[in-house]
Amino acid sequence: MAEQKRDYYEVLGVEKNADDAAIKKAYRVLAKKYHPDMNPGDAEAEKKFKEASEAYAILSDPEKRRQYDQFGHAAFDNGAGGGGFGGFDFNSADFGDIFGDIFGDFFGGGSRRSGRASNAPMKGANLRTSVHITFEEAVFGTSKTIELNVKEECKTCHGTGAKEGTQPITCPKCGGKGQVVFTQQSFFGTVRNVQTCPDCNGTGKVIKDKCTDCHGSGYVPMKKRFEVDIPAGIDNGQCKRLAGMGEPGVNGGPRGDVLVEVIVGRHPIFQRQDYNIYSTVPVSFAVAALGGEVVIDTVDGKVIYDVKPGTQTDTKIRLKGKGVPNLRNKEVRGDHYVTLVVQVPDKLSGEAKELLRKFDEVSGDSLNAAKRMGDGGAAEGKEKKKKGFWK
Ligand SMILES: [Zn+2]
Ligand SMILES: [Zn+2]
Repeated sequence: MAEQKRDYYEVLGVEKNADDAAIKKAYRVLAKKYHPDMNPGDAEAEKKFKEASEAYAILSDPEKRRQYDQFGHAAFDNGAGGGGFGGFDFNSADFGDIFGDIFGDFFGGGSRRSGRASNAPMKGANLRTSVHITFEEAVFGTSKTIELNVKEECKTCHGTGAKEGTQPITCPKCGGKGQVVFTQQSFFGTVRNVQTCPDCNGTGKVIKDKCTDCHGSGYVPMKKRFEVDIPAGIDNGQCKRLAGMGEPGVNGGPRGDVLVEVIVGRHPIFQRQDYNIYSTVPVSFAVAALGGEVVIDTVDGKVIYDVKPGTQTDTKIRLKGKGVPNLRNKEVRGDHYVTLVVQVPDKLSGEAKELLRKFDEVSGDSLNAAKRMGDGGAAEGKEKKKKGFWK
């Protein structure tokens, strides 16, 4: 052999008469220390890791160890001794199994192939649906009935899936464990593989004669009605969860949930953002100028609001506590913001026109002051409007 190879016992740092446990322990220590996952990009560590793995592969196998003891490295050179093996494939699947066996606990538990017990109880699937409600229903809460197809236990076989008068039997392949273990002789020694039993899919039971109503599944789809309590304050797109109403669990696991998405319809005059409501209310030119009452629609009904004399268009007012109740505490409510829009009349009778002209003449001094001053007056007006938000 061209390459100088270190003695396998020396590599693992054990005595020639070391027992299996000592060899395993020594390899474990070295493998943890030099594993590529622990030493990314370190070529020296990788080399040491391979060297230790090769030594372990030979010394952990009684037959190979005997050959090695007798012939040394020559035992595994091509043509000599009878090993007939030239190199290792450290990325092979067999090698992965050694890892699971040797230090599965260190690298996150168990061999990569065995996985978790497949007949463990598992929660059933969630079912999704949606319900449409009005804007007002979202504000004050409501109750809706929905219909869903849900799997229910088959009445004919009481959920066993077996034909009337028969019972599922313990799976002969896995003896009811749901998993099969098969051992494989490989170069590295005996490899144990754990797999979900293919005959019973991990349930541990097989049905010889299937129930004709549910075709052996034990469940039949049933239309079910649910009452959904929708709390005050819910918003478009939010979900209400009906815990434990979904699909049945597996192996005795709990049922999944039903998730009901709430879709809130648009309102002709109200808009909502979070817990606040927004709307606009027209105010006549005369009321805006002279002051007076306007009627404002809120979710609680009509509110009479006193408009101050000289109210400009786009004036925003806040009706405190007239918004949407908080989902967590419906006593706490958002506000309702109203934008007052002054209506400029576009159809006037002759009399009204006459009066307006008169009004213009009479108020000429005050109203036209800005016009006479040029742009300065208008600019001042704009500034005022900005500051006057949300009074
Ligand atoms: Zn059935
Ligand atoms: Zn089985």
